[in-house]
Amino acid sequence: MIVYLFDIDGTLVRVGGAGSRSLERVMAARYGIANATRGLQFGGKTDPGLVGEIFQACFGRAPTATETAEVIAAYLEVLEDELDRSIAEARFRVLAGAVETVAWLRGRAEAVLGIATGNVLAGARAKLVRAGLWEPFGFGGYGDDSAVRAELVARAIERAHARLERTPHAVVIVGDTVHDISAARACGATVVAVATGADTRETLTAAEPDALIDSLDELPAWHLARFAERMRA
Ligand SMILES: [Mg+2]
Repeated sequence: MIVYLFDIDGTLVRVGGAGSRSLERVMAARYGIANATRGLQFGGKTDPGLVGEIFQACFGRAPTATETAEVIAAYLEVLEDELDRSIAEARFRVLAGAVETVAWLRGRAEAVLGIATGNVLAGARAKLVRAGLWEPFGFGGYGDDSAVRAELVARAIERAHARLERTPHAVVIVGDTVHDISAARACGATVVAVATGADTRETLTAAEPDALIDSLDELPAWHLARFAERMRA
């Protein structure tokens, strides 16, 4: 079997700033801090990692585990509202080829689909449900698992092993940032970078993914070429 682990933001969807607006609302309501995410790079980060960066920038220290949990719980309370606002303002987008490629892979007997995202599980679900893309993914690794991307990717791979009850032929990470690439490398996974998100084609190329595509429309052809011998066997 070939396990695909998809990133969410910049890979499957763009949420039009719903995440940053949600964190800003939380930091304003709880701590009276305005524009708490200004200057922050969100791409490829994890939810708990972002809370850590915000605390460093605002307070000059790391949050406690309790503070991180409380901020994320409050974030989840406003995220749905902000996602719906992005939809109302036509700023929520399902990226080109996402629906079609996920459906195509789902129809392949040799492919298994999961998620590897820095979003906490509830945030991942809120985003993917709105994209009509929650149901195809049976498992994943999330920001709840670790603030470190390579660790949550490792958890997703462990869960894939548990589901398959054997070691897959290949694990393919699909993501839009250099962080997806480095996390895949740390886990010994293959990585397809898609240039629809935070990092440019040039930045992604420099990080040497196994493949670089301009949209998910190109993934089925890559899959067929890469695993042709496997499928003939
Ligand atoms: Mg991403």
